Amino acid sequence: MRAILLGAPGVGKGTTAGLLVEHYGVVHISTGDMFRSALKNETKVGLVAKSYVEKGLLVPDNITNDLVEERLLSDDVKNGFLFDGYPRNLFQAEEFDKILKNKNWNLDAVIYITASDECVIERIAGRRVCPKCGAVYHITNIPPKVSDICDNCGTTIIQRKDDSKETVLDRLRIYKEQTKPLISYYEAKGLLVEVDGSKNVELTFKQIKEKFKG
Ligand SMILES: [Zn+2]
Repeated sequence: MRAILLGAPGVGKGTTAGLLVEHYGVVHISTGDMFRSALKNETKVGLVAKSYVEKGLLVPDNITNDLVEERLLSDDVKNGFLFDGYPRNLFQAEEFDKILKNKNWNLDAVIYITASDECVIERIAGRRVCPKCGAVYHITNIPPKVSDICDNCGTTIIQRKDDSKETVLDRLRIYKEQTKPLISYYEAKGLLVEVDGSKNVELTFKQIKEKFKG
């Protein structure tokens, strides 16, 4: 399987990626991991990327593309890959096509996990964390034994600012805006596989497996 994974925050993308990696023996390539490993190994492209990161600048698209090209030289991608967080825009998507074409590889699918805003808000805005020990709760799914009190250390649990309804709505809006051109691009190529992520990760995974059966 050579695929790209798309999905807004809160749709269960990370957990689904883990299941796909295990089931298909593919390697999960997130942009963050790719950068970290290139910086650590001080590859040529890694060093260029580093100069941007050190200045607190965004790494330009063409350098990200070079990093991807370099990443695809590794042996571990032979069984397939699952890109996560890349491509981020149309330019990167088009360059990615060229990179794959040079290798005579086809992209099998762009898996797009969706869920309604209400569902994502319920998941994220219900999250609570313990500011002392870092334990994570959910007001309905994983509530602490005593309301608002951490099971481990007795501290009052809190909602992270990032998890507030307003912030989540903002993040969803931004994600949709940024992803729209990519969705249309891959839809036109007949690569888009949309799956419903509103129930649970097992069901999301089941849908993906069914789509890949034939
Ligand atoms: Zn605690």
